[in-house]
Amino acid sequence: MVKDRYDYLPNGYQETIEKGPNALRVFRRVSHGIGTREEQLKRLKNELTNADAIVIGAGAGLSTSAGFTYSGERFEKYFSDFAERYGIADMYSGGFMVMRCPPEVLWAYWSRYILINRYQKAPKPVYDDLLKLVRGKNYFVLTTNVDHQFQLAGFDKERLFYTQGDYGLFQCSVPCHDKTYDNRDVVLRMVSDQRDMQVPRELIPHCPVCGKPMMMNLRSDDKFVEDEGWHKAAQRYNAFIEENKGKNIVYLELGVGANTPVIIKYPFWQLTAQNKNAVYACVNLGESYCPDEITDQSVCINADIGKVIKDLVE
Ligand SMILES: [Zn+2]
Repeated sequence: MVKDRYDYLPNGYQETIEKGPNALRVFRRVSHGIGTREEQLKRLKNELTNADAIVIGAGAGLSTSAGFTYSGERFEKYFSDFAERYGIADMYSGGFMVMRCPPEVLWAYWSRYILINRYQKAPKPVYDDLLKLVRGKNYFVLTTNVDHQFQLAGFDKERLFYTQGDYGLFQCSVPCHDKTYDNRDVVLRMVSDQRDMQVPRELIPHCPVCGKPMMMNLRSDDKFVEDEGWHKAAQRYNAFIEENKGKNIVYLELGVGANTPVIIKYPFWQLTAQNKNAVYACVNLGESYCPDEITDQSVCINADIGKVIKDLVE
């Protein structure tokens, strides 16, 4: 929506995801890389040291490795009352379930969720270690994560493109306009002032323009608002890819699952195949692979991301 104003800007997101279907036509068989774990790790370390540019592509697996779990102990700690009354089994499904509840209840749930999954740092220092790995280098981060952990760890904001939004921003649910709003103050108040799983009515967020309910700025359907900050980040990402074409570039993919491969995984495969100086590194516990066609340019490490990053930093 309201995209016209940004038509003059190159849209790194659009250009990136358009590579997706092409990747499927080109790459048919997958490989798990060459060499032992130690050899792969050593090679990746070497490639990162000598790289002209590093593009980090981060998915949900990176935050899982950093300790963001949505069930078990962490869920019990913050949501045991919701579990008891509404039969919710984990944070994720609960987020959908409360959408059917009155807004007082919905925001009691979501304010806690946003507080612990966006405003608080991840339990383990995986993002901090990752920053140590690239600090002072020519890097850029492309991420589908909406938990703000790159910013909280101190990554340069100008080197980040979070394509799917941010829990820390509200937008109009219609949406009637394309601005987003920082929600920190109201989220903190909703958490502290809620009683018996309900926030006071006056804290329920409404659009300042049309008065309709606000929602989180997350890409889940076509109502997602791509605000000015989003478009500028898309442009910077695009420029970074252009500037470093043909150079020794490492596409470091961390924890990208099979759910949304068109945003990070498939474009990384294609960009690697188009540049003989590029390296594709896939670090993922249980899902580490590359297309056959670029095996020689790939490093696949099937292990906990946090542990791999720690090994790379040492
Ligand atoms: Zn509105």
